[in-house]
Amino acid sequence: MARPTKASIDLAAFRHNYRVAKAQSPNSQAVAIIKADAYGHGAVKLAHALQEADAFGVACIEEAIELRESGIKQPILLLEGFFEESELELIQQHNFWTAVHSQAQIEAIKRQPQSSQFKIWLKLDSGMHRLGFSPQDYPAAFEQLNALPQVDNIVHMTHFACADELDKSMTQSQLELCISTLEKLDSKTSSFANSSATLAHPSTHSEQFKGYTRPGILLYGADPLSHPNSASEQLIPVMTLTSKIIAIREVKAQESVGYGERYRCERDMKIGTVAIGYADGYPRHAKDGTPVMVNGVRTQLVGRVSMDMLTIDLTDIPNAEIGSTVELWGKNVKAAEVADCCDTIPYTLFTGITRRVHKEYID
Ligand SMILES: *Cc1c(COP(=O)(O)O)cnc(C)c1O
Repeated sequence: MARPTKASIDLAAFRHNYRVAKAQSPNSQAVAIIKADAYGHGAVKLAHALQEADAFGVACIEEAIELRESGIKQPILLLEGFFEESELELIQQHNFWTAVHSQAQIEAIKRQPQSSQFKIWLKLDSGMHRLGFSPQDYPAAFEQLNALPQVDNIVHMTHFACADELDKSMTQSQLELCISTLEKLDSKTSSFANSSATLAHPSTHSEQFKGYTRPGILLYGADPLSHPNSASEQLIPVMTLTSKIIAIREVKAQESVGYGERYRCERDMKIGTVAIGYADGYPRHAKDGTPVMVNGVRTQLVGRVSMDMLTIDLTDIPNAEIGSTVELWGKNVKAAEVADCCDTIPYTLFTGITRRVHKEYID
């Protein structure tokens, strides 16, 4: 590996974060959400590092098959179910769990051989208004499926829109709608909580639901809560994105750095050029002042991010030299801080890492 740009993935931190999720809800099973290649961290590697996972969750059958073919034995949940009827045969063959969110999906299941045994996660739209049956239509959808010989069991599932914002009443309203909708239905197994709800809304995964939590982002060590709590503070970042300084120069006051002269030096400055850019997934819209760390000292991005390089302020870091390691995000510079400076969220930073970035797994 000549170009020194890499994402180090800490597998012990990943396991630790899963245990943090489990500890929040000891009576629930936890479906570790590893869609989108485990939020850019490498799904096959991470799944194998988490033998203790109760189940895994992914976005589509391609992601599920990749895991099965790599030897993953746990249940795998398709969070959006199937997109085409032809997937049902593979779902049966690999024994995947499938979400069902539409009447068309129910009709497709009815057409399957009577000997099929589908494990269904029936989606209730409790207010997110993205997928699922409305509270009015949900009981009928449930009864149709429950009566089918092709259906083995049904888990009730919903998704929260605002569980990361603790001061909003939306999560409580959604939960109340779930409880009143499910009251009269005979399956009681439920799955409501994503990472934020797992960490901050215990009522969404209480024992009465005999259920499953669905932690995603927390597994990767990014705190999804608008205000950290004692649980979220235990999370450890899994990905550390680093590169190295490949050039250093003195730039005079009033001169500019990088494309478009976006950054103008206020004083004589020492500028370091780092081998990482937007083609690696570091956001081009990162503002001047976005934090980075060099030799254990925090400093900042200056100038627009280029495709393969970016520039940082080394003026007050006398021991920085060519070859010094620069942390873009990780254990010291939190992905959430970087995300704030880019008007985005850690999810997009992690999933945006491109193929060119070498991944190194540490256990
Ligand atoms: C992605 C996803 C999750 C995990 O969400 P996080 O915010 O990352 O915890 C849970 N449930 C569903 C349905 C999802 O699509």
